[in-house]
Amino acid sequence: MVKVDKEACIGCGSCAAICDNIFMMKDGKAVVVSGKDGASDECIKEAIDICPVDAIIE
Ligand code: SF4
Repeated sequence: MVKVDKEACIGCGSCAAICDNIFMMKDGKAVVVSGKDGASDECIKEAIDICPVDAIIE
């Protein structure tokens, strides 16, 4: 289950840019798109790799 650590997220937008079916930006932080909590998608791994502060937890 993919999650974003809101405290850690610095709002760079990279995850939402490369994986917009799973992540979106809200109030300056990334959130998992509603209904996608249990989703598995190859781009989640890319987002985890690209996140500069390791805020994405799978
Ligand atoms: Fe936040 Fe990481 Fe996504 Fe950037 S890539 S918006 S820091 S979760």
